[in-house]
Amino acid sequence: MRKVIYVDNNATTMVAPEVLGAMQPFFAERYGNASSMHTFGGQVKHDLDEARAKVAHLLGAAPEEIVFTSCGTESDNAAILGVLRANPDKRHIITTRVEHPAVHSLCQSLAQEGYEVTEVPVTRQGELDLDVLVDSIRPDTAIISAMWANNETGVLFPVEKIAEIAHANGIVFHSDAVQAVGKVPINLAEVGVDLLALSGHKLHAPKGIGVLYVRRGTKLAPLLIGGHQEHGRRGGTENSASIVGLGKAAELAETHLAKQQTRIKQMRDTLERRILESTPDCFVNGHPEHRLPNTSNISFEYVEGEAILLMLDELGICASSGSACASGSLEPSHVLRAMGVPFTAAHGSIRFSLSVYNTDEEVKYVAEQVPGIVKRLREISPFTQKQK
Ligand code: PLP
Repeated sequence: MRKVIYVDNNATTMVAPEVLGAMQPFFAERYGNASSMHTFGGQVKHDLDEARAKVAHLLGAAPEEIVFTSCGTESDNAAILGVLRANPDKRHIITTRVEHPAVHSLCQSLAQEGYEVTEVPVTRQGELDLDVLVDSIRPDTAIISAMWANNETGVLFPVEKIAEIAHANGIVFHSDAVQAVGKVPINLAEVGVDLLALSGHKLHAPKGIGVLYVRRGTKLAPLLIGGHQEHGRRGGTENSASIVGLGKAAELAETHLAKQQTRIKQMRDTLERRILESTPDCFVNGHPEHRLPNTSNISFEYVEGEAILLMLDELGICASSGSACASGSLEPSHVLRAMGVPFTAAHGSIRFSLSVYNTDEEVKYVAEQVPGIVKRLREISPFTQKQK
């Protein structure tokens, strides 16, 4: 296979070799069911408890507040639907305009079912308008759902303040922290988030494993009703291999957190600076400071993001664009539209997202390739032809 330069770590991450190693016995000799009465199953239960403690430690939570799920999407759905079911008299949801579809599309579907949904806007730099959030609160507001960090721009929301606002009004606060966990410190002993979603495959664990953190005392109905697993909060035989893998990944994430703030941030800043210096008509989307250390979303005026991606792909470079091909037309991302990024720039946005496994050489290579690609595309672009 040709060499891949993977700078798309907000899409998914490589499973860490240590994680794979920790999981392997659970596909072979340790196949017991954690709910079984016998010692063989009991050993697996013990392994799951250890993993639970590691995840709890990463979040500053208690082990009994950790519920294992199948993915970030399930965790987000379980949080919002669980609160609504537990509080049937409350029919209003507050969320934001820039949530991941795991929250955004769910809320849109709930609106079709008759719930009332307020989507709080963001500024040009992607920051949440807290005044609108406060003004949106109603006596029948069941839940506020606001992400910890945005998957496209990396912009961080002021979750501590949102939690204070929610609690002052007796409202449950859910935060989708799928992109934040492992990249910025999270201490739920200090930040009053009631429900938090994380996803294993964003932090070097495999796909198909997630967590819903449920603060002690939060009223929540289960989404998956079945056996008594996870203390009756999520039915279904535990995915022991992936849970153990996630435990290992949580442990590694703690040791790598400092690197996020230093080495990864430095690489990201270098990448950004070099591209901005050598490419005219481009800019970074999102607040320059209040942002994940690994993420850079850059808009290149007058070019299609997809065309840039294809040319990067030819060189083995994996990144993402901010637009999705919907029904034959290229729709710019709802996040960039909510931020008011001009149409011509939103179409040409590329997200680079780094991990601890990237190297300075890779970053240098990407930074060297991008300006030439953009120049070549602009030479043939209908947008730039019109400008002439
Ligand atoms: N929330 C955010 C912010 C994400 O970035 C993602 C995945 O990209 C999800 C939720 C969904 O996570 P999963 O892929 O585990 O369902």
